[in-house]
Amino acid sequence: FEHPKLEPEMPLTRLKIRNKIRGYCEDFEIDNDGYKRIMNLLEHEMDKGLGKETNAAATIKMFPTYVRSLPDGSEEGNFLALDLGGTNFRVLLITLHGGEVKMESKIYLIPQYIMQGSGNQLFDHLADCCAKFMKAHAISHLSLPLGFTFSFPCKQHGIASASLQTWTKGFKCAGVEGEDVVRMFHEAVKRRKDIDITCVAILNDTVGTLMSCAHDDHNCEIGLILGTGTNACYMEKLDNVELWDGDDKEPKQVIINTEWGAFGDNKCLDWFRTPYDKEVDEFSLNGGKQVYEKMISGMYMGEIARLVILKLTQEGLMFGGEVSEELETRQRFYTKYISEIESDDEDEFRNTKQVLEEMGIETFTIEDCRNVRYVCEQVSTRAAYLASAGIAVLLNKISKPEITVAVDGSLYKFHPKFHDRMVDKISTLVNPGIKFKLMVSHDGSGRGAAMVAAAVAGIHFKNDV
Ligand code: BGC
Ligand code: MG
Repeated sequence: FEHPKLEPEMPLTRLKIRNKIRGYCEDFEIDNDGYKRIMNLLEHEMDKGLGKETNAAATIKMFPTYVRSLPDGSEEGNFLALDLGGTNFRVLLITLHGGEVKMESKIYLIPQYIMQGSGNQLFDHLADCCAKFMKAHAISHLSLPLGFTFSFPCKQHGIASASLQTWTKGFKCAGVEGEDVVRMFHEAVKRRKDIDITCVAILNDTVGTLMSCAHDDHNCEIGLILGTGTNACYMEKLDNVELWDGDDKEPKQVIINTEWGAFGDNKCLDWFRTPYDKEVDEFSLNGGKQVYEKMISGMYMGEIARLVILKLTQEGLMFGGEVSEELETRQRFYTKYISEIESDDEDEFRNTKQVLEEMGIETFTIEDCRNVRYVCEQVSTRAAYLASAGIAVLLNKISKPEITVAVDGSLYKFHPKFHDRMVDKISTLVNPGIKFKLMVSHDGSGRGAAMVAAAVAGIHFKNDV
């Protein structure tokens, strides 16, 4: 008698525990009909965002970006770029020449008291980092155009004007929501006398990601971020953008920053949210907001897994029921742990053991390691599939025979299975006749910012350092 799945030598209690754990994780499993329902909801919300009459009440804002054309490799010159809103804050110096991109960059820290302080303090800090960077590169005397990758939901009024709608992720600076962030940045630059920078373009990280990939791949029409936060942008026909108030020169298209992270903020996804999702939301800086983002992105995924593992431990299903202080600490189970655990070799569980030790768990069995991994897989697979449903909606909307999706973000780049799971799921959800590729776009926030800045400053523009 052979029973391949149930491991006949497995003691009954272990099997029982496994089944109980499955039970606690069941809500993370959504079948294809469920994902199709999510796609229908998302498409409906996106259409509301694009419609003139419906936009005001829509949760997904579908902001037109004023970026109308993709780079063609002829962009030239030296540019500064700022990248704010991901894992790191960076200042970059970028040189575009003959289709080549040269880049120097430095990461600066944004202390938590500034991330959650006043807006002026934040922008003074950004200007200060720019000044330090320019000094270090001996370019303080130059007035270089700057592309500002600002990765938060903004309503754009033009290529260099955007008002912040609401902070997301770990930021919450007073006095910025509703304000034009380019104006605030310029004011901070003027408050000091040592640098002369003009921000010529402000863009979302998804747009930078799309631009930098489109530079090499002409089928690229979607930009996706799976990092601290999540969001996507895509190229839309002007005819479908009822709120378009810019010019209607050829090409009649514009990149739309969907801000899909807000999907579900009107409770339309509550039918599958788990108690863990609700708890993550409750203890976040932006309760009730960014519901879809909180089920997908790196800022929250580890925390969801921690809550499940904590619950299972309290129920006596793991670690002999012994809860550690670390396991009880919010944000302490980092999302990178999930990537490490899922990269593990299943005979040795070396990373998993290391993580459990870091989490202050003193005694655990190999069976505990298996179960921890199972929890991580449940949480990260749902994240990958939810993002896939979103991408499938955009692919169907664009509806061309071949479409490339440019992807960036630490979650996508470092998780061992995110890419493969997404390819599988998108394949089952996308309309027949559409071939797609998911391509990593390296450093879109920097390169893309320079390309948009170049397009604004005038192609074939030269300003030697
Ligand atoms: C922001 C988006 C951004 C995404 C990825 C979200 O929290 O609202 O603007 O693109 O994070 O960085
Ligand atoms: Mg980034």
